Amino acid sequence: MMPLKFSRISNENLQILCIGAHSDDIEIGCGATLLELARTHGKINFQWVVLSAFGERRQEAAKGAELFTAGASKQVILKEFRDGFLPYSGEAVKEFFESLKNLANPDLIFTHWHGDAHQDHRLVSELTWNTFRNHLIFEYEIPKYDGDMGRPSAFCPLSASFPEQKVAHLLDAFKSQSSKAWFSRETFLGLMRLRGMESNAPSGYAEAFHVRKFCLSGGL
Ligand SMILES: [Zn+2]
Repeated sequence: MMPLKFSRISNENLQILCIGAHSDDIEIGCGATLLELARTHGKINFQWVVLSAFGERRQEAAKGAELFTAGASKQVILKEFRDGFLPYSGEAVKEFFESLKNLANPDLIFTHWHGDAHQDHRLVSELTWNTFRNHLIFEYEIPKYDGDMGRPSAFCPLSASFPEQKVAHLLDAFKSQSSKAWFSRETFLGLMRLRGMESNAPSGYAEAFHVRKFCLSGGL
């Protein structure tokens, strides 16, 4: 399959906005892709937004952002909305998303999949689209007990070392999750291996995204 690549129109840094409902969502959903982007695009500014990060989970979110941005410049915004209750704090969450319009205009946005079974994830996806109206948005996937895995349309084949690096960073940064049966090396590697198989990734591993629309530069 002929791959499409991100190219810079100017020499400016690539602005990437990552939005997650909870402390480990961004890292689980697109962590290896971020490492891949940092490798191929030397100049990146990350804007890193987590809506529900408090107590121990706040420290973990900060560590996750540090590990997965690989030393690139970044702005980390951690909020303390109640876990599981985002849709029921709708007005405040909507106001917060309005404030994100003041950030540097992102070239690329990573957010939750609109079909995710978790109510917090779905609201974040909805408000991302509601807030950023003329942007390229990649919706990442989060494996879970509810069994909501879909059929993603965009794949990021991963360099050989990044799947293991992603897992190592996840287990290092989010120790509060280690007692959860699903939060395991096998879960994360298994999903990346499946998506790698679907995209014929040379390393065998990939992360996958739902992309509702994108524009081809200059036509076909
Ligand atoms: Zn989550």
